[in-house]
Amino acid sequence: MCKSWVSSLVSFAPPTRHPGLLEEPKFLVDEMLQRLGRWLRAAGYDTVIATDAEPDYYLLRQAINEGRLLITRDRELSLHRSAKDNVILLECDSLEDCAKALSDQISIDWHHQPFTRCMVCNTPMSSATNEQIQSAPKDIRDSDDAIYYCPQCRQVFWDGSHVKRMQRHLDDWQNKFTASRQD
Ligand SMILES: [Zn+2]
Repeated sequence: MCKSWVSSLVSFAPPTRHPGLLEEPKFLVDEMLQRLGRWLRAAGYDTVIATDAEPDYYLLRQAINEGRLLITRDRELSLHRSAKDNVILLECDSLEDCAKALSDQISIDWHHQPFTRCMVCNTPMSSATNEQIQSAPKDIRDSDDAIYYCPQCRQVFWDGSHVKRMQRHLDDWQNKFTASRQD
């Protein structure tokens, strides 16, 4: 196979999927990218956020074992022999830069399934039952806000002004980063 053909193939291949990606992506973000991880979770992606300074090899092993893409700014980690297809290396500083850098490397739908996962523990939430709704404040129960329940945290959450602000943020990223993609 001649090299120029390979490079043209690479340049024309739609960059929608990471090479190792066969289904909806799941993520593990290292502790330096916790904020980005929270936004991926807000967008509805299954995202584990490393909380402590866990050793790199542990994170990489966890990502492989759980079928997650490890998102990191650690170049050394990205050079590990097991990193191929399992690690996304971002070169970025601000949260916005990191979101863009990620969107440039992999197709991220910032409107994937917004606010369907618990922001605390990543567990998918369900609509709260009548019984569960009782633990929400009265003004929330009386409002039109949707109320959800996390079976792991055993707590109710609702679409308050905080969620609406975050939704606008996701809209912004979807417009800026996804609309500009060529795929
Ligand atoms: Zn939870």
